Order: sequence, then C-alpha cells, then structure tokens
Amino acid sequence: MSVPWPHEDGHVGFGPTGEDSTPRRDRGHTATGVVPGWPSARTSAEHSMLTASPAVLIVAHPGHELRVHGWLELARPRIFVLTDGSGRSGRSRLQSTRHVIAQVGATPGAIFGRFTDRVVYDAMLRRDMAWFIALVDELADCLAQERMGYVVGDAAEGYNPVHDLCRVVIDAAVALIDRGAGRALANFDFPLVGRPDAYGDSRPDGTIRLILDEAAFQRKLQRAFSYPELAEEVRAALDGRRHEIDSLQTAPERSATPDPWRQATSIDAFRVEYLRRINGRTTEAAFRDAPPFYERYGERQVALEYYREVIRYREHLRPLIEAIRHHGEAVS
Ligand SMILES: [Zn+2]
Repeated sequence: MSVPWPHEDGHVGFGPTGEDSTPRRDRGHTATGVVPGWPSARTSAEHSMLTASPAVLIVAHPGHELRVHGWLELARPRIFVLTDGSGRSGRSRLQSTRHVIAQVGATPGAIFGRFTDRVVYDAMLRRDMAWFIALVDELADCLAQERMGYVVGDAAEGYNPVHDLCRVVIDAAVALIDRGAGRALANFDFPLVGRPDAYGDSRPDGTIRLILDEAAFQRKLQRAFSYPELAEEVRAALDGRRHEIDSLQTAPERSATPDPWRQATSIDAFRVEYLRRINGRTTEAAFRDAPPFYERYGERQVALEYYREVIRYREHLRPLIEAIRHHGEAVS
C-alpha cells in the first residue's frame, strides 16, 4: 500500500445548541439582512443570494463542514462528502458529521462518505482518470437534477491531495452544468487550513464574508466541542493554547516544517467565514516550482516506512487535474 499525505488536517468548526425549526427562508431576512443570533452577510444582497436558492456543499472529508458552520445554518445545504475521513487511522468520522448535519437542518447528498481515503489515494497513484471523471459526471448529474443554485466546497491549498482534487472535481462538475444545462452555477471555495478570516491581500471579486454574531459563534464552538475527533483541538484553542489550533492533529509533522499553515490563529478568527467566488480555473501555479506540503509530508511518511510511495503533484495530481479539466471543458 502506498498513500502518504497528512492523514487528516485539524480543522476547527463549532455548533448550535439544538435543532432550529425556523424555515430557511425566514432566517435573516430583515431590511438589513441580519437577524440576531444568525450569521450575517456583509450586505443584504449577499445574504439573499445565499438563502434564495438551494445550496450544495461538496467536501473531501467529514469535519470540513464545521469551518463554514455559520453558512450551514443559513443555507441548510445538501452535503456531499467524498470519503469517510478514516485516513490512515481507519476510523470513520461520518457519524459525527451526520450529527452536525441533522442539527443544522441540512441533508446528506447522494455521495456521503462513499470511499475510504485509501481508495482515493490509490486512484491517484494509479492516475486513474476514468475513476475521477466518473465522479465528476455523477456529481454533475446530482447538481443538475436538484437544480442547485450554488456550490461551496474545499479550497485547493496544497495541504492534502484529496482536498485539492475535490476542488478540481467540483470545478469540472460546475463546468459541465454550465455547458450542458446552459445555466451558470455560482461556485465558491473556503480555506481548510489557511486562516479562516483572511485570504491574504487579495480578496477576489465576488467573495462573500459572513460575520457570525456571538450566538452563532457560540453554537459553532459547541458543535466543534461535540465533534469527538476535533474536540481536543478546540479545547486547546479555548485554553489559551490558541496558536496553531488548526494544526494540532498533525502537530509533530508540521512543527518540523516551516510552512504557511503554521500561522498563529486565534479562536476569534472563526467568527468570520469567507466564501471565495471561483471565477474560471483555480490555479496550482504555486506548486509548479515548489512542491506542495503533502509531498514533503509524504516523504517523511515513506522514510518512516508507513507507506511505499509518495503522492506527488507533478507525477500524479497534475495529469489527473488536466484530464478532469479537459473533461469539464470538452463535454457538452
Ligand atoms: Zn480534510
């Protein structure tokens, strides 16, 4: 077996105190687009956009949804999760995510933890284009059948190859809808290991910022506490060991690596959620010259004899990405 990459990333999310029975359309619709206790978008136009049409969340792993918990409460999306989050541990996190979904009133999609991480890694190592293209087609069919209005999903950050391919698969599925059904599906990403409250200096056009009020933030925290696989991470953040809270799960590996994820992140950063509009292609240009984090991580795992082969951007990801994009652009 092969498959070296950070087995999972510590992501922080958080949560509500109980089921809310308010219909989605009644939430947050005041003159200003803000209702106390619910996340508020910067403008009423953005807020209306987020609640006016059915939304879908597509993520690689269970737990990612907590990063956009405020948005989950607002939009109650259909949630697709590619793997069961078992990573190298073999322990599924699906049940924890199922609980989050029930509490916010969202619903699971047709693909919900269908694969183990190992299956996806092996498909990457084989450069199995047909496997990923079948996934694109299935997702596109789901999006079309349910007439989804917009898509939110993982950002490609070079941290975990499943996250990065999840993003490419989403973009290709959206491209298929745009070309086939002739309607434009708005497409957003959100960071999983990068700071949740900033996109660096550039904030691309169309980026939506949700600022959670205190009640929504507290629900988010509570939800994260009740997510067993993430509880320690959140507790550390609240204890005042608040730096690096999104890197705790892989701390030994990461602390040895001067990488961009080792940014001090206070718990307050999670009061803000950005949905970044994807306009055209997401780019991995950053990985063309310097290997992404997952390669360096994989090299260490192979050195420790946990795995036999390193998943690499040039050898594995790039050919897959090109094939998936071509599929999205070529089929109509
Ligand atoms: Zn993940």
